Amino acid sequence: MTATTPATPTWSNLNGMPTCREHAPMSLASALDLTPDAREIRTPHDLWTRITAADLHAAAAHLGSMAQARRIYTCETCRHNN
Ligand SMILES: [Zn+2]
Repeated sequence: MTATTPATPTWSNLNGMPTCREHAPMSLASALDLTPDAREIRTPHDLWTRITAADLHAAAAHLGSMAQARRIYTCETCRHNN
């Protein structure tokens, strides 16, 4: 996996676990079918927040590393598959 901004939006839940659309749990995926542009999606068991470019840059500033910021905002399933 190259260190580029994810092409697909990444979502983070209350535990800070990032996921992409493809690996999202069914509850999140079906909510995204209805409201694809939502910034926040509440599911019966979680609250998902879209990771924006601004979030990425804020994290990079905080961590002092864009590569590290991208790492923490990369879908966990994708990260393990790469
Ligand atoms: Zn993924």
